[in-house]
Amino acid sequence: MKKDGILQTSPHAHYMAHKREVDTAIDMVLRKGRYILGEAAASFEREFARFIGVGHGVGVANGTDAITLSLMACGARPGDGVVTVSHTAVATIAAIERAGCVPCFVDVDPSTYTMDPVSLGSALKDFHRGKKRRVPGKIRAVIPVHLYGHPCDMKAIRSIAGRYDLFVVEDCAQAHGASISGKKAGSWGDIAAFSFYPTKNLGCVGDGGGVVTDSAVLAGRVRMLREYGWRKRYISESSGMNSRLDEIQAAILSVYLKYLARDNERRCQIADIYGSLLKDVVDTPTVRPGYRHVYHQYVIQIEGRDRVRGLLQKEGIATLIHYPLPVHIQPAYRKKSIIISRDLKVTESIYKRILSLPMYPELSDRSVLKAGTLLSSILSSNKRR
Ligand SMILES: *Cc1c(COP(=O)(O)O)cnc(C)c1O
Repeated sequence: MKKDGILQTSPHAHYMAHKREVDTAIDMVLRKGRYILGEAAASFEREFARFIGVGHGVGVANGTDAITLSLMACGARPGDGVVTVSHTAVATIAAIERAGCVPCFVDVDPSTYTMDPVSLGSALKDFHRGKKRRVPGKIRAVIPVHLYGHPCDMKAIRSIAGRYDLFVVEDCAQAHGASISGKKAGSWGDIAAFSFYPTKNLGCVGDGGGVVTDSAVLAGRVRMLREYGWRKRYISESSGMNSRLDEIQAAILSVYLKYLARDNERRCQIADIYGSLLKDVVDTPTVRPGYRHVYHQYVIQIEGRDRVRGLLQKEGIATLIHYPLPVHIQPAYRKKSIIISRDLKVTESIYKRILSLPMYPELSDRSVLKAGTLLSSILSSNKRR
């Protein structure tokens, strides 16, 4: 990589942009002396729930736990099926397994890369007609993943889930601030899981996660589950685990939350610049009407992806692939994957073609122009070849 290279993402640039405020927040926590689940966590939980537009927020240790705890709160039991997509971070599936449940895959929509409601609907219909019954328990929940920052079609998914009495657990790890008709991702399902991993749209400087919901009952269950099943300290009313958000991360998240809307706006600006440079040579990301895309990633599909990626790298432009293999063909899951839709055609047709361009709020116009222009010229000479 060249010295003046362009990074794909940069939590460090974000810290440097807000250094004074972050340092003050950390210092305050250190001097107060309460380091786990104190005032900073409690205020961040309130602020974040308000930002999403729901009644309750619960800080947890990471986004994977946020999904596991959400499933447990919904009453998912070992052996139950949980429907999701294979085109996602493996964390989604690890979280389902951690709850003892069986991941069941349906396909994604080719234009937004998110759960295809048609695939979901027909899969559940077939399943309940007795076809493809390989799940020991009942299908308990569906996890739509708002991948790359574009929300899933929540109206359709909610209505299908209602038909089969399934809980809707939103995986919002890539969609902080995204919305449909002004209603935020995280407020559409029964409960929603967020990750605050450093590179996410809202990220801390270590691991962190959060669960939000409008249900006091579900929030109460997550609150107990995250700390040994305690309602009162030291008295376990149910079995639980340790999955807490620490005070330093919470204090930093409160600082960053103030800038999240602005940061998302900047991501959209960057996407616009890429769009203007690339629209004639490649299909630029789809934004469905009424949807707010927050561009956790700016993803395009290209022929000869790995070669193009190498050419960009040579010029100091870093890119990533989210993700190089769908979960159902990863070594750990190849044998035990349950595909409940007819097939995963779309999932299997995109993973060799997708490429995530540099994207983070502190990326300068100059860098975006450089990356976009170079890519555009590579792709147009590709076309001529
Ligand atoms: C990051 C991510 C997670 C998991 O979050 P962690 O905080 O890393 O555990 C889950 N789902 C998706 C889609 C993610 O991108």
